[in-house]
Amino acid sequence: PLYLLRDSCHVPLFRNFRKDDFEANWIKVAECRFGQVYQVKLKLWREKCALKSFDSLRVMDEASNMAKVKFKYIMSIYGLCSEATAVVMEYMSNGSLNNLLASHTLMWPKKFQMIHEASMGMNFLHTMKPPLLHLNLKTSNILLDDHLHVKISDFGLIHWEEGMSKTLFMEHLTGIFEIAPSKRCSVTTVLLEVAQGKRPCVEMIPEQMPHECDQMIRIMQQCWDQDHGKRPQFSDILMKTETLSEVLKVPGPIHCRKNADEGSDSSLVPPLHEVNNLHATDGILCLLYKKDFGSFRLSV
Ligand code: ATP
Ligand code: MG
Repeated sequence: PLYLLRDSCHVPLFRNFRKDDFEANWIKVAECRFGQVYQVKLKLWREKCALKSFDSLRVMDEASNMAKVKFKYIMSIYGLCSEATAVVMEYMSNGSLNNLLASHTLMWPKKFQMIHEASMGMNFLHTMKPPLLHLNLKTSNILLDDHLHVKISDFGLIHWEEGMSKTLFMEHLTGIFEIAPSKRCSVTTVLLEVAQGKRPCVEMIPEQMPHECDQMIRIMQQCWDQDHGKRPQFSDILMKTETLSEVLKVPGPIHCRKNADEGSDSSLVPPLHEVNNLHATDGILCLLYKKDFGSFRLSV
């Protein structure tokens, strides 16, 4: 059948593509926990797509969740390829934010814009009825289009929670704090340290930051408050991230520079410790920053 799933009004939700609907050269983009991500070209539309393969149950879960959501800052899904047990979605030419951060230094206006766009995406999910919780927000799930605009991806862990209160929802969050590469600690240590209230120190944010960064840091700190009840919702912070991203307007097409010495082939050796990024899960904001001793990932 052309259409796999229909909603209650028998409107097709998404298409089922066959493997030979795509041109033969599938380019593997990434290997992931449950399969692979390929860049493919759909013959019918002459358009590049991403095809993400899974075990079959997860495919159906993920696809049916993602198909319900249509928003500028959320990844669109085109359909399934049940032959390949895969989801077919928009291809994001600039890959994921974590890959970009490993090889490039982003300019502050661009960081602020990305924070605001990711917050708008998350706010959209949280304002759905019932709210849709992502529960797996991290920089590898923030994908970037041709112009480095953000789309939030990967709803594999999402579940729809009827009437779930904020407090109840917060209790579902787990903290993970990774410090690398200088210190490798086990996930258990990380969980304990975050639970005990440890957070990355803001002094690690480089000095040449614009003064607007102080406000962004305050938002970030509110977002990781030890007391879950004090953490703002995305709807509470959007006005601030909007203002901050407008003040530091992205000046033009150049948003970032490659981390490399001039003359060398920078694509081969991204500096391991160049960029730090902090990210947060649901009620918590992503803030990216850089310093030369190790990289962070934090989700509380
Ligand atoms: P998780 O399963 O927790 O989401 P992950 O994000 O690390 O883990 P994947 O979601 O499988 O792993 O994605 C792996 C990588 O594949 C991404 O970081 C990104 O570089 C690439 N990728 C995924 N989807 C797309 C897409 N639609 N367009 C372009 N690249 C993509
Ligand atoms: Mg992902």
